[in-house]
Amino acid sequence: MTTIFSKELLELVHKNVFQEDTEMCGNLQLVQESQQYTKFYAFPDINRGARDNGRGICSQLNKFSSPYLFHTHPVNHYAYPSVEDLWTCVKFRGPPYNGFFFSFLFTKWGLFIINPKGNPIDETQEARLKRHYYNSIIEFHRLTKESDHVSVDYSERVFQLIDQVYIPAVEQTFLNLTLFFIPWSVIARYIHERGELII
Ligand SMILES: [Zn+2]
Repeated sequence: MTTIFSKELLELVHKNVFQEDTEMCGNLQLVQESQQYTKFYAFPDINRGARDNGRGICSQLNKFSSPYLFHTHPVNHYAYPSVEDLWTCVKFRGPPYNGFFFSFLFTKWGLFIINPKGNPIDETQEARLKRHYYNSIIEFHRLTKESDHVSVDYSERVFQLIDQVYIPAVEQTFLNLTLFFIPWSVIARYIHERGELII
């Protein structure tokens, strides 16, 4: 299945990530879907994070009007998914989604796509899995940390760490998800050449 993000949508989230200090979140609107592709265009419901301890955090992630969630981590926050971002996606939630939806996270490094697969995890596993996650990303966290709650800028070295350390750690902890990462440089090339991001 191909996923298409419009230029307008990507420019909006890029501006939020790099120029604002509060999170943005909501559900992506599906404008077109066929057997070949899913196309996202606009945000039907954009929410801005309420300021809390200096950083605006969205609380909208628990409300679903479509199975396609997005949110941002502006530059004053870690540039990768939080454990809650991952857990929200894989836990059992009951109908209609049962844990099966996509989550798109835009950070200063690029776009993380959290893609659940298999059966949702029941809540009794929460503490154990979160502990396992924290233990397995300690080194990644240390190597990519700039200061409190802020990650270093994107580089080839960061890409290697995401690819070889972070994604394997996440997928080996939460066995029912797949994580993809696309840096802004690749997104920019797509926009330049195709006018939209095609994944
Ligand atoms: Zn997040």
